[in-house]
Amino acid sequence: MVTKSRFPCIVVGAGMAGCAAALRLRQKGVDVLLVERADEGGAKNLSGGILWGDDWAELIPDWKEEMPVERPVSNKKVGFLGAESAFVVDYHDESMKEDTVGYAVLRAKTDAYLLKKCQEAGVTVVTGVHVEDLYKENGVVRGVVAGGEVTTADVVIVADGANSRLTLSGDLRHGQKKLDEHHYALGVKEVLKLDKAVMEDRFHIGEDGGMAGEYVLGRDDGVMAGGFIYTNEDTLSLGVVVNLATLPQEKGNTLSTHDIMEQFRLHPYVQKLTHGAELVEYGAHLVPEGGYQAFSELSADGALVVGDAAGFCFSNGIVIQGMNYAVRSGVCAADAVVHAVGKNDFSAVTLSHYEKLLHKTGVMGDFERFKNVSKALWNPRMFSKYPDFLSNMFRGILTADGPKKKMRAHLTDAMKASGVSKRELMTDALTAGANL
Ligand SMILES: Cc1cc2nc3c(=O)[nH]c(=O)nc-3n(C[C@H](O)[C@H](O)[C@H](O)COP(=O)(O)OP(=O)(O)OC[C@H]3O[C@@H](n4cnc5c(N)ncnc54)[C@H](O)[C@@H]3O)c2cc1C
Repeated sequence: MVTKSRFPCIVVGAGMAGCAAALRLRQKGVDVLLVERADEGGAKNLSGGILWGDDWAELIPDWKEEMPVERPVSNKKVGFLGAESAFVVDYHDESMKEDTVGYAVLRAKTDAYLLKKCQEAGVTVVTGVHVEDLYKENGVVRGVVAGGEVTTADVVIVADGANSRLTLSGDLRHGQKKLDEHHYALGVKEVLKLDKAVMEDRFHIGEDGGMAGEYVLGRDDGVMAGGFIYTNEDTLSLGVVVNLATLPQEKGNTLSTHDIMEQFRLHPYVQKLTHGAELVEYGAHLVPEGGYQAFSELSADGALVVGDAAGFCFSNGIVIQGMNYAVRSGVCAADAVVHAVGKNDFSAVTLSHYEKLLHKTGVMGDFERFKNVSKALWNPRMFSKYPDFLSNMFRGILTADGPKKKMRAHLTDAMKASGVSKRELMTDALTAGANL
């Protein structure tokens, strides 16, 4: 059955991208239907997650007071974990609390708040409805299909996240019929309850600070994975992000992401930080890490793609930033729809105004500048050799046996012990310098 809706725009997916788009459209006076598959806002959403930047301010000026955020980041750690070692750079900066560079968030809470905010602004919200497909007439998107029924609109904003079935079935992925594993990582995350006072003491963050830690996981089995620990109000977010293309199932092995998560959790450095914490949630989610090389089509006749569905997720090993780009791309898409409503023209040509706005707001520039970031980020040696190299180097310096050695000799010894050649070290330093 085809139902002709009164809505010029349907947004599919009430994550950060979809909520930002829907909210902006209502603020600009355009009627919008927001469809979410979960029964409640945020129920199916998962992020690490640190919400970086201030992108919500454009839509919700008081978001920092209103949104249920956890702790501001005042301490950033970046490290390499060897089998029994941890080499960690530990940056504390109290001023980051005032400037609120980033907040730890739990998406079940933030997205429920955002959905309510959309409703209050007059967005028509439907939850518990899974959109099965885009509805097309003569190759032009004219609405969505859910429960076998069609609801029409002039334009659909596709905001269904990293595992975007709609960009695949709607032919918005340059003809691809399935997601390319080389452009995705799998994130597994636990939320662990920890006594607030214990956490504040253990992480040296005080009552009003927070820690965000990112770690390269040293491994000798070819799997490339990173781990993260973030402090929330009275819980920890603990997780791993695993490069899908290096998961050994492909090679007939049985190691799973769950095993990699267990190994991270049981690492002596991590164990000391999480000791006594109790598991309260467990989830998994894809991370689109292909960047500029892996964007979906961004605009088509009757459709726009935003957030993770489009591939707007940035990662450089120090931060993962997808939520801020989800918000910014959602706003750009909404503004492109307003532009199209003004012209009463929803063709790909008119909707490509979206791409102009992505350029103007810096989204495209960021991804273009870092289009080769994966070369440095997913360098096998980063996982197979450098954690060992760093630990060999530092253990050498600290060991007081025999005659004292100069730093250069320690460096040479560590390179030998961990099998890193001078050429590899130089090449990797240059690659990192050029692409990170
Ligand atoms: C482990 C992990 C760690 C991360 N860490 C960070 C971090 O620290 N900082 C950061 O900024 N980013 C981080 N990210 C990335 C960030 O979570 C995403 O970039 C961001 O959530 C993208 O928002 P989105 O709205 O595009 O997609 P999503 O948040 O995935 O929202 C998609 C929405 O669409 C709904 N939906 C899907 N299909 C349908 C359908 N067919 N019909 C109806 N509704 C549908 C879903 O239920 C969901 O509500 C992390 C991601 C992972 C997995």
